[in-house]
Amino acid sequence: MTKPGPPLIAILALMCVIAGSLSLSHTAFCESPDPYAAARQRMVLRQLKARDISDPKVLKVMGTVGRHLFVRPGLASQAYADHPLPIEEGQTISQPYIVALMTQILDIQSGEKVLEIGTGSGYQAAVLSHFTDQAWSIEIRKTLAQSAAKRLETLGYGNVKVKHGDGYFGWPEYAPFDAIMITAAANHVPPLLMEQLKMGGRLLIPLGSTTYYQTLTKITKTPKGNEVEHLLGVVFVPMVGKILED
Ligand code: SAH
Repeated sequence: MTKPGPPLIAILALMCVIAGSLSLSHTAFCESPDPYAAARQRMVLRQLKARDISDPKVLKVMGTVGRHLFVRPGLASQAYADHPLPIEEGQTISQPYIVALMTQILDIQSGEKVLEIGTGSGYQAAVLSHFTDQAWSIEIRKTLAQSAAKRLETLGYGNVKVKHGDGYFGWPEYAPFDAIMITAAANHVPPLLMEQLKMGGRLLIPLGSTTYYQTLTKITKTPKGNEVEHLLGVVFVPMVGKILED
């Protein structure tokens, strides 16, 4: 009697693994093809690990979230390049390194409450949602807020709550937050955001000239006052809304 061969499903699964390890297209064999998997791993190695991104969880998440799904379809082939990209309404999705760095600096622990100001494409929010299921994001441009909310929902990041509004005022209903990340340039820290930060909480903001460059600044709220760390030079699109009236 001849032995039965391996079932077809096992053969297909094996072909999937081989195709993946050779960085070949999965399309023919696998259920969820990801033509950018290899480009994403290269990005992690060359742009993040090769610099100062060392937090294993940040590296893992950056290697997991499909950045190509957050840019315009025509720019998908550039999604893993070492620079920011334009999104709708004249705004930008930050360079992958800056997203990774800001995430590493905030060091979000599971269960912590995090608020992002400037949802944009929703990419940074998707990255944050891998660290905690308590994530909120505010976007001042209505069409961006709507499309990011829809995109996050469709891609399975429905645990991030997105609201259309001015992030200057924070989101008092869910305050206080353990961490607040502002992803638009500001010439001062919106006072209500400091109020909505927990004692011991961290706030990260590109602070400086909104027309030239800013210094990525980390502020930790302590009983003795705010600890301020000036980290590195960055360029973000300006925060708009009420902040411009101050
Ligand atoms: N984090 C985004 C990129 C941010 S670009 C991403 O991952 O794609 C900066 C965003 O901040 C823009 O979408 C801009 O519309 C938004 N923004 C500017 N001022 C704002 C404000 N006062 N409140 C909320 N969002 C604001």
